[in-house]
Amino acid sequence: MNTPLLPPAENALRLVVFDWDGTLMDSPRRIVHCLQRAAGQIGAPVRDEAALRNIIGLGVDAAVRELYPQADDAFVRQFAETYRECYLGAEDAPETPLFPGVALLLDWLEARDVLLAVATSKSRRGLDQALEATGLASRFVATATGDEHPSKPNPAMLEHVMNRAGVERARARMVGDSVYDLQMARHAGVPAVAVTHGVHSPERLREEAPLGMQPDLESLLDVFRQAERETE
Ligand SMILES: [Mg+2]
Repeated sequence: MNTPLLPPAENALRLVVFDWDGTLMDSPRRIVHCLQRAAGQIGAPVRDEAALRNIIGLGVDAAVRELYPQADDAFVRQFAETYRECYLGAEDAPETPLFPGVALLLDWLEARDVLLAVATSKSRRGLDQALEATGLASRFVATATGDEHPSKPNPAMLEHVMNRAGVERARARMVGDSVYDLQMARHAGVPAVAVTHGVHSPERLREEAPLGMQPDLESLLDVFRQAERETE
């Protein structure tokens, strides 16, 4: 792979686009819990955790269609509504802290005039609630959500935030925890880095040939620092 993590100075890194769930926020356990609860509540077969982690990263409608191939539109709508109600409101569902290192990584990038954006399969309501709860809303110049764009791996979300930020693809990087993030980035022509603290295994992520793969955000920051030293 010849693409460097940090592009050379004349083409310097200008934008990092983050996936949200499983990348910045440790939310997959809550997502699994609420997918299982939604299935139970509407009388659908409850899928096991492995099957559910597999589809986290898709938009909720696309995820329901993957899990229940026979589903009609009414089923998908009812499932998605029941799921969101749980995710946004259930007090007994697992909590969703940010992963360690989020603030340090965002600070480091911002200090280098790198713009930050989010491309997530969450709903607008879900993302706005998460941005508010974490105090991160003002950090991102652009955000794109699953109910406003076609589901990953369609490149629309990534193209939207690049347009909003006014940054061309060679100067952008995508960071995500699922193969859908990496596929979306490939479709948009944006080099991507995987973090493996989310839903998909290193083996599965490696099949998508990311630019780099790191166990967590703290390691990703180390790699950025190292790349900066090497370009000095
Ligand atoms: Mg994710």
